[in-house]
Amino acid sequence: MSGNRTFTMIKPDAVAAGNTGAITKMIEEAGFRIVAMKKTKLSRERAGQFYAIHKERPFYEDLCNYMSSGPIIPMTLEKENAVEDFRTLIGATNPQEAAEGTIRKLFATSIEANAIHGSDSDENAEIESNFFFSRTEQF
Ligand code: UDP
Ligand code: MG
Repeated sequence: MSGNRTFTMIKPDAVAAGNTGAITKMIEEAGFRIVAMKKTKLSRERAGQFYAIHKERPFYEDLCNYMSSGPIIPMTLEKENAVEDFRTLIGATNPQEAAEGTIRKLFATSIEANAIHGSDSDENAEIESNFFFSRTEQF
């Protein structure tokens, strides 16, 4: 993937609130091309696998329960400098600290239910995309 792809999920709170279209529009208007996209739901076990890196954190159990509570929209995205530019577009983890105009500032309801995920590195973008999509689904 070498620097031009990232992975995102619109999280259960934002899907349930009917914000999928508005968020996807912001992503495309920011210059990201959708490489893969679907609507799905994580089991509690799969949510635990996705967030295994946070296993020792105090918020892990709640996070896994929340992330498996309803449908999500995973997407692989492409743009020059994708990982960093997408983190800028979504804003800080805590929506109270997120910059004006960012997706989390506009749509997140709490530090947990913060509307959207964004990969933190090129390596994790590839791992996370492959968690949801086969290679032939990413085009
Ligand atoms: N999270 C939480 N409480 C915290 C920190 C994080 O519930 O104190 C949740 C939140 O949904 C966040 C996810 O765990 O998006 C992953 O945390 P991370 O630190 O990786 O934040 P992100 O990379 O999503 O900004
Ligand atoms: Mg993270």
